[in-house]
Amino acid sequence: MKNVIVYVEHRHGATRKVTFELATQAHAIAEQLGGKAHAVVLGAGAARLAEALTAYPLDVVHVAEDADVDTYLLDPAVDYLEAAARAAGPSLILIPNTLSGRDVAGRLVARLGAGVAADVVDVKIEGGRVACVSPKMGGAEITTCVLKPADFGIATVRPNAFAAQPGGAGAAIETLAKPAGKSYAAVVDSDVEEGSGELALEEAPVVIAGGRGLGGAEPFDTLLKPLAEALGGAVGASRAAADAGWVPYSLQIGQTGKTVSPNLYIAIGISGAIQHKVGMRSSSTIVAVNKDGQAPIAEFSDLVVVGDAFKIVPELTKLIQAAKA
Ligand SMILES: Cc1cc2nc3c(=O)[nH]c(=O)nc-3n(C[C@H](O)[C@H](O)[C@H](O)COP(=O)(O)OP(=O)(O)OC[C@H]3O[C@@H](n4cnc5c(N)ncnc54)[C@H](O)[C@@H]3O)c2cc1C
Repeated sequence: MKNVIVYVEHRHGATRKVTFELATQAHAIAEQLGGKAHAVVLGAGAARLAEALTAYPLDVVHVAEDADVDTYLLDPAVDYLEAAARAAGPSLILIPNTLSGRDVAGRLVARLGAGVAADVVDVKIEGGRVACVSPKMGGAEITTCVLKPADFGIATVRPNAFAAQPGGAGAAIETLAKPAGKSYAAVVDSDVEEGSGELALEEAPVVIAGGRGLGGAEPFDTLLKPLAEALGGAVGASRAAADAGWVPYSLQIGQTGKTVSPNLYIAIGISGAIQHKVGMRSSSTIVAVNKDGQAPIAEFSDLVVVGDAFKIVPELTKLIQAAKA
């Protein structure tokens, strides 16, 4: 295993910060393994994004502007990735640990018979072998998974795990040929986009999350959104809030929702059930606003503000806005 391949997730050429984090890290790993850093960009907007990626320390960016990739099927992307990986030989493939990234990774693991490490937050090279570090059981245990050097290895990497650093001599851009003998049945009639998606929440440096204690949908707009805007963050929620229909499920954080690890996580009216905790426990600083000082969230928060969210949050927002002004 010498080369490193980054799967670039994007929509019409708009990508996430994690792409540039992985491009930077791919170079660092490939350098230690004595190989090259590749990226694979597929679908509409791929050529434009490939140009942007040349500002990062990659050796080759492989591009295919193939409309089949934009049909919400996984197979077209997996076919291209498999072809690129087989051409490069046993490689480490870095995939963002997002909802769609995990789907792609699962199929690629089966296609390549690869080893896999999921939810990776660090990669180390030990004696020429790739060791992937990932938290398990909500961060209670930290595991190190060493990939077999002679095989393909896949790591799904948590956003915000690495710093993005432009640099390098400018990657070569190469067109990927469509894998032979492939055809796909899906046709897309129309697209519906939700305003707040995975990108904002999983990569936000600050997350303001609300729970059942908010009592309805309105406080998410009138209380949480202004605080999130003042702090440059995104709004998230507990499952109780999503189940009640107050927010879309795309905002749910936890075991059956998203995993976030922002610099600052503010939980408002959230009790801190274990299923919620596993999705936010690795946040750098956790603040809880809860009228019950004995709520479970107090056990793993850095600061607990005991009181009524409807009094505390507007005051906090005002103070932050004033300090910024
Ligand atoms: C298989 C499974 C998977 C699950 N997955 C998830 C998941 O992914 N994410 C998730 O979040 N949950 C998940 N759950 C649900 C989880 O067990 C909890 O039920 C849920 O997290 C509770 O949400 P909550 O904290 O918003 O509500 P509650 O537990 O009801 O807590 C509300 C909190 O608000 C406080 N409060 C009330 N009024 C105010 C006020 N005015 N000001 C300040 N504080 C106030 C209360 O003191 C209380 O602590 C899952 C459960 C199961 C069984």
